[in-house]
Amino acid sequence: MHDVVIIGGGYSGSLLDSLLEGLDTVLIEKEEIGSKDVSAVTFLKIVEFEDAIVKTYNSYTLITVDGAREVYEFDEDVFCLVNYRKLCKNLVRSDVIKGEVIKYEPGKVELEDEAIEAKVIVDCSGIGGENLREKAGFKLPPVVNALKFERATSVEWVDPSSFYLIVGFANFGGWIYPIDDNFLEFGMANRFKRGGRILFPEIEEARKLFGFEKGSELRSVLYPYGFVKQVVNDNIVIFGDASGLTHPVYGMSLHYIYKMAPKLADIIKKTVRGEGKLNEYQKIWRDTLRKASSLIAAGYSTWDLPLDTQIRLAKLQMELKISPKSILDQMWALDEKFEMYAKYPPKLTDYPISLHFKTFLNRIKIIL
Ligand SMILES: Cc1cc2nc3c(=O)[nH]c(=O)nc-3n(C[C@H](O)[C@H](O)[C@H](O)COP(=O)(O)OP(=O)(O)OC[C@H]3O[C@@H](n4cnc5c(N)ncnc54)[C@H](O)[C@@H]3O)c2cc1C
Repeated sequence: MHDVVIIGGGYSGSLLDSLLEGLDTVLIEKEEIGSKDVSAVTFLKIVEFEDAIVKTYNSYTLITVDGAREVYEFDEDVFCLVNYRKLCKNLVRSDVIKGEVIKYEPGKVELEDEAIEAKVIVDCSGIGGENLREKAGFKLPPVVNALKFERATSVEWVDPSSFYLIVGFANFGGWIYPIDDNFLEFGMANRFKRGGRILFPEIEEARKLFGFEKGSELRSVLYPYGFVKQVVNDNIVIFGDASGLTHPVYGMSLHYIYKMAPKLADIIKKTVRGEGKLNEYQKIWRDTLRKASSLIAAGYSTWDLPLDTQIRLAKLQMELKISPKSILDQMWALDEKFEMYAKYPPKLTDYPISLHFKTFLNRIKIIL
C-alpha cells in the first residue's frame, strides 16, 4: 500500500507531489505531465523555474470592446506567461504511472488492468476526471467555461510588456497574452451553467475588431468555474480545477493552487503519519471560502450581468482610477483582506441594484 496516490499530472497534481517529500507517492497520468492545452499568465513569484517562463509582464491592461482602456503599471515584472508542460514536469518527483483511472473508492484506485492501494487519494484530474468524481459522489463546479483561443501576429497597439483582459465579448470576456514582439495569444470565453448547451465563442469578429491576422491554430478547451464546497470524503480529497479553484473575477487559477497546496500537503502528511485527519483540510477549505465570500460573490455576480452593464462597470473602474497595487491585491486575494484604493471612490448607486442583490444572495449561498 502506498501513502498517497495523486490522479492527474497538471499543475495541481505536480505541485502537490513536489510538496510530499518523505512520503511514498505515485502519480497517475493518462496522457503526459502538464499536457493540457493551457497558456496561463500567473504571478512571476510563484514560478521558480526559468525554463518554464515564456514571457514576463510589468503591466496589466483592461480594455472594453468599444475602445476604452486602462493600464495598470508596476515597478517591475510581476506576471509571466508559463510553459505549462515545463512548469509541471519540473515539479514532479515521484514515480509516474501512465494510465487512465476509471474508478476510485476509499483506499483504492482502479486502472484498466490494475488496482493501486493508498492511504490517501488525491483527485487532481481537472475537467477530464469529472465522471470519476460524479461516481465517487462529489459535486462538480457549477459553471463550465468554453474557451477558444489562437496564436496571431501582433499589431502595433499591443504593448508586449503588458497582458490584456477584454470585457464585452461572448458572455464572459477574453484575453491577449503577448508571446514576443511578433506574436500573441488571443482568446475568448463563454460561460454556461451546467445542464445547458455549451457553445464555444466565435472569435472572428473580435479578431477583425482588434486587427489581428488569422492565427495558425485555433484551439477549443473546456474549463470549470465555481468552488465546490465538499472537497473531502473519507480519505479522498479533490484539488485544483476538480474543486473549481479559480479566481472569481480574473479566472487566474495557478496562484490559488500554489496558495492552497502547502496547506493540503501538510494535512496529508499528518494523516499518513496518523497525527491528523484529512477532514481538517475540509475545515480549512470551508473557512477559506467563507472568508473569501465577498470577493467570490462579487465575481460570480458581475459575470452574470448583461454585457453592456459589464462594459459600463469596466469603464467605471477606469474612471475611478483604482491604484495598480489594489488591482494586484485583488488578483492575488483569496481569503486575504485588501483595500481597494480609488482616486475617485465610487458611490453605491454607481452599481446596479441587481448586482448588490445578486452579490448578497451569492454570499449567503457561499457562507451556508
Ligand atoms: C485556455 C486556458 C487558459 C487559461 N489561462 C489561465 C491563466 O491565464 N492563468 C491561470 O492561472 N490559469 C489559467 N487557466 C486555468 C489553469 O490552466 C487551470 O486552472 C489549471 O491548469 C488546473 O490545473 P489542474 O492540475 O487542476 O488540472 P489539469 O491541468 O487539467 O490537469 C489534470 C490532469 O489530469 C489528467 N487526467 C484526467 N483524467 C484522468 C484520469 N481518469 N486518469 C488519469 N489522469 C487523468 C489529465 O490528463 C491532466 O493532465 C487557463 C485554462 C485554460 C484551459
